Amino acid sequence: MSLHDKVVAVKGIGEETALQLNEMGIVTVNDLLYYLPYRYEDYAMKDLAEVKHEERVTVEGRVHSLPLLQYYGKKKSRLTFRMLVDRYLINVVCFNRPYYKEKLNMNEVVTVTGKWDQHRQTISVTELHFGSLAKQREIEPVYSVKGKITVKQLRRYVSHALEQYESSIQDPLPEGLLLRYKLWSSREALRALHFPSGQEELKQARRRFVYEEFFFFQLKMQALRKIEREQSAGVAKVFSESVLHEFVQSLPFPLTGAQQRVVSEIVSDLKSPYRMNRLLQGDVGSGKTVVAAIGLYAAKLAGYQGALMVPTEILAEQHFHSLRELFQDALQVQLLTSSIKGTKRREVLSQLASGEIDVLVGTHALIQDEVSFARLGFVITDEQHRFGVAQRRVLREKGEQPDVLFMTATPIPRTLAITAFGEMDVSVIDEMPAGRKVIETYWAKHDMFERVLAFVEKELVKGRQAYVICPLIEESEKLDVQNAIDLHSMLTYHFQTFQVGLMHGRLSAQEKEAVMQAFSQNEVQVLVSTTVVEVGVNVPNATVMVIYDAERFGLSQLHQLRGRVGRGSEQSYCILIADPKSEVGKERMRIMTETNDGFVLSEKDLELRGPGDFFGSKQSGLPEFKVADMVHDYRVLEIARTDATLLVNSRAFWEEPQYERLRKNLEEAGVFQGEKLD
Ligand code: ADP
Ligand code: MG
Repeated sequence: MSLHDKVVAVKGIGEETALQLNEMGIVTVNDLLYYLPYRYEDYAMKDLAEVKHEERVTVEGRVHSLPLLQYYGKKKSRLTFRMLVDRYLINVVCFNRPYYKEKLNMNEVVTVTGKWDQHRQTISVTELHFGSLAKQREIEPVYSVKGKITVKQLRRYVSHALEQYESSIQDPLPEGLLLRYKLWSSREALRALHFPSGQEELKQARRRFVYEEFFFFQLKMQALRKIEREQSAGVAKVFSESVLHEFVQSLPFPLTGAQQRVVSEIVSDLKSPYRMNRLLQGDVGSGKTVVAAIGLYAAKLAGYQGALMVPTEILAEQHFHSLRELFQDALQVQLLTSSIKGTKRREVLSQLASGEIDVLVGTHALIQDEVSFARLGFVITDEQHRFGVAQRRVLREKGEQPDVLFMTATPIPRTLAITAFGEMDVSVIDEMPAGRKVIETYWAKHDMFERVLAFVEKELVKGRQAYVICPLIEESEKLDVQNAIDLHSMLTYHFQTFQVGLMHGRLSAQEKEAVMQAFSQNEVQVLVSTTVVEVGVNVPNATVMVIYDAERFGLSQLHQLRGRVGRGSEQSYCILIADPKSEVGKERMRIMTETNDGFVLSEKDLELRGPGDFFGSKQSGLPEFKVADMVHDYRVLEIARTDATLLVNSRAFWEEPQYERLRKNLEEAGVFQGEKLD
């Protein structure tokens, strides 16, 4: 007998039923045993004083008045009676069950389940049971079922499977871990998940599976990380740290403590014989670019070329200029985008191949086909959260084993960072350069728009510039663009003495370029834009960010947008225009006005929107867990990560027979073949 047996082997499951189960993805006994309830119906008796309005409740009591039956319509009826529950006298309503009238006697014990209306002190019944249920099961698992299979049937099949196969269930977790955390065995835990006798049992069973899921996930990630480190031997770069230090000294400002820490992490990666595979997180304006530049400088000292890849041409242009300024004549920096064509392009490509160019900046077409480097040793990508695990891997496979650094300005909550980026090292810049003015954020309702515009005008008169971000219509880029066009004409009319520019995704690269150029040279004072302006744009003279329909944006995105201002020496402002209807919506606006800390916002965003929506795309690279919840169980996630890391790096894991099962799991997951993991 094996868990790999087909489900027909289970008592009560015939060929027909087996086919139905197959439809639900249940093929083997193992599938059936691990087909877990998605929620539990709680029939535990509660004290009515603790039950909230509209909550579902089960109570036991005595019939305290003879039932009253009313008919309305042809078949519709309503039966009411009073019931004494402990010291409470409550009302009970049953719809369309006239037959209860004859059955309910005074003082009879009944158990009812239904929704509690606190104001009317009434339970509207979904289930009525004659007699006491106190000794029966309190919690009933609910499964999602398909076709002819009912929840009741499924429960029976699972019960039979457990009986027949109990002894075949082997615990995949090493015994040491079970003992250390007093975790239930998978046999006990599976039984309890399917047939819990109470909340406590359910809790223990969940506890075990949360750990198991996180542990296996992290084991996979850490094994992958170890294998990649060892097998894809990188190159130990040799350079003089004191020369590098001189360069750092020559910068116009001292590095913050966080920048120093991250620089030394990057330096030691570059020097090590392993390949760097690092994620650098830092809030907008925290100074990631400088850190990247120092890394590029070190690579150059070691005789290697570097590449900086960004998602848009505008950003490429900006990074190109800021790197040139930082390096002065010390490094040859060039730009390569799809708008660089003809002779210029050929020139760049040949200088790159000959090794004359030290650093190439561009969009991610950079490291593809026709572009060949003389000696590429360091690849940096900015705003990488658009890529999933698989794409990150492709990137590392380009070039000749280059070190890779991924940078992101979207602070990723730690729980997500270690799941979505579990195979990477993580560096964080969690400190802002000194002397930054805090951006003041206000929340205004739509009917205050005129006043907001008056405020904007005051800033314009002072010589400042402003962004106005248009509503985001997720379903339709066309509507986004239309919104921007409408807002643009409205503002052009309003600000007669100032130039109003327009930016959206339908413009060609050159048109975008021209608009950005005009804005950064203050030929345009107000820039109306869709969210294309979101990433990385730097215009220090802009001091106002107005975000229209701000409730449509996620907190992280609002924070990103806000980060476009506050880049110069003047006080900056962010104004959110929104009439959110829900409490959560209002809460989000309030949080924006209260904090400028991207990490606080990202944690909050995760809490309010959940992990699935956090990255706002299908490519989040997040794994799916059956029982575990990344947000609520994050402590376990951390523990499991530590345990997995220790185990993978121990010799015993790779040699001892007791870990053979685990090694086999990894093999089946494709860790050794370098297959796609997510
Ligand atoms: P990020 O890429 O993280 O958004 P940048 O690297 O573009 O941030 O830095 C934002 C601004 O802060 C730049 O003008 C940069 O020159 C400046 N800056 C960076 N580090 C420091 C520092 N340690 N002290 C003062 N200014 C800094
Ligand atoms: Mg940046």
